[in-house]
Amino acid sequence: MFETLSDRLTTVFSSLRSKGRLSESDINATAREIRVALLEADVALPVVKDFIAQIRERARGAEVSQALNPAQQVVKIVNDELINILGGETRRVRFAKRPPTVIMLAGLQGAGKTTLAGKLGRWLKSEGHAPLLVAADLQRPNAVQQLEVVGERAGVAVFAPEPGNGVGDPIEVARRSIEQARHAQHDVVVIDTAGRLGVDAEMMQQAADIRDAVEPDEILFVVDAMIGQDAVTTAQAFLDGVGFDGVVLTKLDGDARGGAALSVRHITGRPIMFASTGEKLEDFDVFHPDRMAGRILD
Ligand code: GDP
Repeated sequence: MFETLSDRLTTVFSSLRSKGRLSESDINATAREIRVALLEADVALPVVKDFIAQIRERARGAEVSQALNPAQQVVKIVNDELINILGGETRRVRFAKRPPTVIMLAGLQGAGKTTLAGKLGRWLKSEGHAPLLVAADLQRPNAVQQLEVVGERAGVAVFAPEPGNGVGDPIEVARRSIEQARHAQHDVVVIDTAGRLGVDAEMMQQAADIRDAVEPDEILFVVDAMIGQDAVTTAQAFLDGVGFDGVVLTKLDGDARGGAALSVRHITGRPIMFASTGEKLEDFDVFHPDRMAGRILD
């Protein structure tokens, strides 16, 4: 991901290398080229506009520096703006003062929620927590079994409805899981919820009902970074329908252009908290805006 954007920006920067100082027309030309690079990378238009406005303002205001030549100055400005657009500081999970901390996952079917539950479980365990993964996706065939498999792989307990005992209600499953967590001393509960292939009122209502039943400390919106501009519209729909505290980007290992990653924070105002980069449990990390910006400009 981001290869095209990286290459484009490298070309923009190298064209500035011979300049002694930046004229107004250099700044305009550079801003135009960066604009095209971002649009080609599928970054949402309002984000591109704000980004370019910042670049122009800072490039004009840039002091004549002894230490940095114009090309280096532009690289620095673009780097700072990328970090800014990706959210600035790393946003960590806010654990509840009184356990269990309840983390609810929401997103479309196929976004990678169930896989993520396993990854989060593994990560939480490595951070010294005792998580419980909860199978409240009763929509997708095999979702419960899939969670049991990832839970086992991660070495993390899974709370799932027993087949045939009448617990077919995801809200009830979520509610009972909190009791189970208290009972078995799990300090973090990760609730996997049902998604649909597209935004759907019934799914949204179910997620909102689970939210109201368990009052999560963190609702994480899980989104496939490969779906491009759709990530932004889906995020907006979940923000309106359920609300969320943070974003998890999945499939960052894919060959998409990266626009979703660069847009979602700015459009929703919610921080990207984790990134998933593959199907394996260990392909996962806390999201660091500065490292991601660094990778784009590498
Ligand atoms: P859910 O419907 O939201 O629960 O999605 P799943 O967890 O079942 O994931 C859908 C598919 O995407 C599965 O085949 C996963 O193995 C795959 N997947 C999940 N996360 C990633 C990722 O970060 N990278 C890649 N390449 N595949 C992923």
